[in-house]
Amino acid sequence: MVKAKARAVDGPDKGFREAEITRRDLDQHDVLIEIKFAGICHSDIHTAHGEWGEVNYPLVPGHEIAGIVTEVGPDVTKYKVGDRVGVGCMVDSCGECENCQKGEEQYCNKGNIPTYAGVDKYGEPTQGGYSTHIVVTEGFVVQIPDNIALDAAAPLLCAGITTYSPLNRWEAGPGKKVAVVGLGGLGHVAVKIAHAMGAEVTVLSQTLNKKEDGLKFGAKEYYATREPETFEKLANTFDLIINTVSAKIDVGAYINLLALDGTMVNVGAPAEPLSVHVMSLIGRRRSFAGSMIGGIRETQEMLNFCAEHNIAPDIEVISADEIDTAYKRVLGSDVKYRFVIDTSTM
Ligand code: NAP
Ligand code: ZN
Repeated sequence: MVKAKARAVDGPDKGFREAEITRRDLDQHDVLIEIKFAGICHSDIHTAHGEWGEVNYPLVPGHEIAGIVTEVGPDVTKYKVGDRVGVGCMVDSCGECENCQKGEEQYCNKGNIPTYAGVDKYGEPTQGGYSTHIVVTEGFVVQIPDNIALDAAAPLLCAGITTYSPLNRWEAGPGKKVAVVGLGGLGHVAVKIAHAMGAEVTVLSQTLNKKEDGLKFGAKEYYATREPETFEKLANTFDLIINTVSAKIDVGAYINLLALDGTMVNVGAPAEPLSVHVMSLIGRRRSFAGSMIGGIRETQEMLNFCAEHNIAPDIEVISADEIDTAYKRVLGSDVKYRFVIDTSTM
């Protein structure tokens, strides 16, 4: 067993505290990773606050993990000590169902094993990346290309793949008009990736406060959704809308911005139901879809794509003592554009 320092939370309205957790002994295919950086995703906040259902506390969140391999099990072939690696939102799956066989492990029919707030195949609760070490089976570890710094790489493991996957599937590219709703952690990476794919990108943010940044990330246009004219002006415009908003919004108003055959993909995951007026779908053969992270193969593809196109998230590195403050700032949409914990401060 490896003892790891961590930051844990004991309840929905509690702050983070120091903790010590144990990581299992290495199985044949396991790798031990010394975590260097862990991103703070809004999903960590939804989970820590119990918004998505009951959670077993104490909870150590964190599913944007970047670190270095420090030990490998006897049958590991993909990694060696010293490799720069990442771990995202899941650490295992059945490997046998049709979705796993297709490389879509996130949609495992038996349920993927989430990096935290899950139960691993040994019956132990999983604990995430706000921690100094983690043990993961090699099939759920990805390689971080040399030209992406480890601190900036961390958010790609969730924010990167969650936006790359739908942009890829719905073919964002030259000649396509893509809107990104919400310029937070996921949103800013979505803008960079969609731009690199060759699409014409528009940001739909609550205000124009971050316009300069949005244009710098690659957007061509930037509109404030608090201004009602925006919805009139942009009606029937986009081929694809990626909604990254963490709160309940009037999705119908956004669906009306889709062109014929356009698709709005929700990756934002508020706990409350969102209602859609079907007439807005029928009228222009539009679709409303959802998408969850991406498979391991696609995650590696996304990292390689980001390396090739020099895409790195804009981050603010914080110490472990600053997690509570960072949560408050994320909830206030005051993040530019992802907090990343330096785990050496644990
Ligand atoms: P984030 O950094 O907090 O960004 C969300 C952005 O949404 C904010 O920056 C803000 O952008 C906008 N926003 C927030 N509250 C709003 C409101 N009331 N009305 C309108 N806009 C609002 O969060 P994140 O880490 O990117 O995560 C976003 C969501 O995606 C969360 O719900 C998270 O759980 C979910 N998620 C889903 C997956 C998946 O697999 N589907 C994976 C990761 C995360 P502006 O300031 O620009 O308006
Ligand atoms: Zn996440």
